[in-house]
Amino acid sequence: MHYVHGEWNLLTKSCVVCKREGIVYIPYARASFCREHFIEFYNRKILRTLRNSGFKSGKILVGVSGGKDSVSLLYALSVIRKEMNLEIEALHINLGIGRYSLESHNAVKKLEKILPDIRFHYFDLRELGFTIPEVVKAIKRPACSVCGAVKRWILNKFAYEKGFEFIATGHNIDDISTFYLKALLTQRIEDIMRGPEPLTPGSPDLRLVGRIRPQFYLSEMENTLYATLQNLPFVDFPCPLARGATLFKYKNLWKEILSTNPVAQINFVKSIIAIKKRIPKETQKLKSCEICGYPTTAPDGVCFVCRLRKKFGVL
Ligand code: SF4
Ligand code: ZN
Ligand code: ZN
Repeated sequence: MHYVHGEWNLLTKSCVVCKREGIVYIPYARASFCREHFIEFYNRKILRTLRNSGFKSGKILVGVSGGKDSVSLLYALSVIRKEMNLEIEALHINLGIGRYSLESHNAVKKLEKILPDIRFHYFDLRELGFTIPEVVKAIKRPACSVCGAVKRWILNKFAYEKGFEFIATGHNIDDISTFYLKALLTQRIEDIMRGPEPLTPGSPDLRLVGRIRPQFYLSEMENTLYATLQNLPFVDFPCPLARGATLFKYKNLWKEILSTNPVAQINFVKSIIAIKKRIPKETQKLKSCEICGYPTTAPDGVCFVCRLRKKFGVL
């Protein structure tokens, strides 16, 4: 009995590389792997995604939340760093979400011990004068949208000030494909145009650091399996503020689609990226925040985080 697509599967055959007993069947690759060769397959996929995205080499800040995706990302990048000529450091942001943040912090601390030659940084949101639950209580915006905007601001500021060329984040194909599926089915053209890509270049004039998403074509299941097989610490219960039922329903649609065509999710995202390449880039009207100097789209020229800092009396 073996692990596949979040379920235990009886169909796993011998490893496609070494013919020993396989432990996982990857449907889109139509291949089973043993532990060793799954790990190799995973690392190679990260490497290939980086290379195909046009990324060459450089100083990367990895945002590590303590979840399975980012923990696997940091570990895999540490494995391929010589080959890709990477300089890696990690940043963990404590969001102040009760036990969830506490356990996330503990997981990252454990990971720091496993990766002694990577420098870890820690940022506590309270330094800005608020926590995510406090903001969610104070303003009418979904938790994840608030949290995402705050994390983006902190990662970008930190990376810019410390001279990082790229920020790497642990987005997986389940999240990315669901984002685009929902955007298409609800006619959110702006979301499609601005949606995630494997590499988003920075804009130094605007103090905007580039983004890379090396797990763009890796699934939640593959990330969990990698973290488990490598014995990595990660927080294994969901954030209590996690977004609501609607997105989850869209995510569930993939199960049905993938049972018809196991490559559908990858093909779908690849098609979206290919189409986006053919249409002129929408120039997002970014300007520098009048207070912090970091990029914002706010019409009044004050970014979301500075508005929060004002609201909480920190500015
Ligand atoms: Fe933030 Fe939402 Fe993730 Fe919780 S689930 S950490 S609120 S983005
Ligand atoms: Zn093998
Ligand atoms: Zn600002």
